[in-house]
Amino acid sequence: MTHPAVKHIVIVGGGTAGWMTAAAMAKVLLGDFSIRLIESDDIGTVGVGEATIPQIRQFNQALEIDENDFVRQTQATFKLGIQFVDWGRLGDSYMHGFGILGRDRGLLSFHHYWLKAHLAGKVSAIGPYCLNVAAALHGKFMRPPDLGAESPLSSIAYAYHFDAGLYARYLRRFAEARGVRRTEGKVKETVLRPADGFIEAIVLDGGEKIPGDLFIDCSGFRGLLIEQALHTGYEDWTHWLPCDRALAVPCTSVGPPTPYTRSTAREAGWQWRIPLQHRIGNGYVYSSAHISDDEASARLLANLDGAPLSDPRPLRFVTGRRRKFWNRNCVAIGLAAGFMEPLESTSIHLIQSAVTMLLSFFPDQGFDPVMTDRFNEKSTMEWERIRDFLILHYHATERSDTTFWNDCRTMSVPRRLLDYMDLFRHSGRFYRENEELFTQTSWVQVMLGQRITPRSYHPLVDLLSDADLDAFIANVRHIIERCADTMPPHEKFIARYCAANPPA
Ligand SMILES: Cc1cc2nc3c(=O)[nH]c(=O)nc-3n(C[C@H](O)[C@H](O)[C@H](O)COP(=O)(O)OP(=O)(O)OC[C@H]3O[C@@H](n4cnc5c(N)ncnc54)[C@H](O)[C@@H]3O)c2cc1C
Repeated sequence: MTHPAVKHIVIVGGGTAGWMTAAAMAKVLLGDFSIRLIESDDIGTVGVGEATIPQIRQFNQALEIDENDFVRQTQATFKLGIQFVDWGRLGDSYMHGFGILGRDRGLLSFHHYWLKAHLAGKVSAIGPYCLNVAAALHGKFMRPPDLGAESPLSSIAYAYHFDAGLYARYLRRFAEARGVRRTEGKVKETVLRPADGFIEAIVLDGGEKIPGDLFIDCSGFRGLLIEQALHTGYEDWTHWLPCDRALAVPCTSVGPPTPYTRSTAREAGWQWRIPLQHRIGNGYVYSSAHISDDEASARLLANLDGAPLSDPRPLRFVTGRRRKFWNRNCVAIGLAAGFMEPLESTSIHLIQSAVTMLLSFFPDQGFDPVMTDRFNEKSTMEWERIRDFLILHYHATERSDTTFWNDCRTMSVPRRLLDYMDLFRHSGRFYRENEELFTQTSWVQVMLGQRITPRSYHPLVDLLSDADLDAFIANVRHIIERCADTMPPHEKFIARYCAANPPA
């Protein structure tokens, strides 16, 4: 039996999730559908979410957004990776660089060759063998030139730091220009069909009733449709990721913007530093069971580069996910779908991924469970793998200076993560499963950075003589240093191509 097509799409919420969804749908569905977005200026948006991962470029490219224009309009800077300070031990620092590590050789990944030399005491950290890391630490940036696979410069991978409010505004202009109809108003009621509990309409404060075929819940933490109306349920992950609060505060910049995010482990969580063109975004993500709000605030304010531009803004969350991301004719995207802390800047990516998957699973009005169940399975897999990657940062630590770190170090963690860590500890192996987001390069950098040192390396490395291995490793490092030297300073790159006007 065929079902009528979905024609009327209603998006509740105009934060990053709502406008990313609206923009992508307006672009792909080509005006053949009615798309309405309802948001309430009174309620406002969460207003954070400024660091991204390289996949966002695919999203912007799919929208055919001009990158320089986008960077200017959102006060953005470029991001080559994330620096982790004090995570494995106090005094430690490592970088999770995007892009590739060294140069693979034959069947083997570079890190196995590095590992043999490292275990023999000949070389220290792996960071200098990653162009993204070397460039980031020298404050360099350029887009990858098309020099072919031989040049590491071609492998530069990057993302952005941007002002979340300006990004939503940018996408709003994009979506409205392509027919999305925005309504300012507060949703006060959700009308369900008595027969099957599907959403029939939402009702605004002023009484307007907005019917639809497909409802996208982008209403933020409150999950207005997915939870308050459909009672979907929530899987709580705070026993693995105990941080449940954050304080966010922008401050003035005191130097050129670094082309990387910094995450500094603190006594009961961690502090982010996200440099934009016009300011630096900062925040302390912490566990309220381990530190008071006042102490967290004092700690945050004591660790800013420049003068604070406002009072710290408190945010509360429960790490976890909806039991179903798609329930009946409602799909939750963004914070309405769940939340994982921004340690690896994954939330905006999860929005992008959900929108892309929704377009791929675009339904008819039958909403066959064969489709929605698969959507939910794939989303669950993606969320759980990211969750495990985040847990790795907390669990694989030698820190024992506070109760928080002792609790994290000694907690039990998901079986799959234990298997990943055991395999890596055995001989530096990592095998990416299905389509999980983070690749071997990411896992290897973070596992090493968190002080998981493999006992051995891949046996095929021994096919190379010691002399050839030493020469290979030294050559890779030399080439990477030379490439980083040729790159322009990040601030000069921005000034040349995409400097934003100072904010009004
Ligand atoms: C502390 C913190 C730091 C973060 N940092 C990062 C980061 O660095 N990188 C990253 O990728 N992500 C980060 N995130 C996540 C990121 O902020 C969100 O994924 C992103 O902003 C999307 O939010 P949203 O649109 O789902 O919700 P919101 O921004 O909360 O928007 C909700 C929308 O729903 C509307 N709404 C709600 N109720 C109603 C109603 N009754 N009627 C009408 N409208 C309604 C509101 O008006 C608003 O427009 C962070 C999150 C937190 C909490």
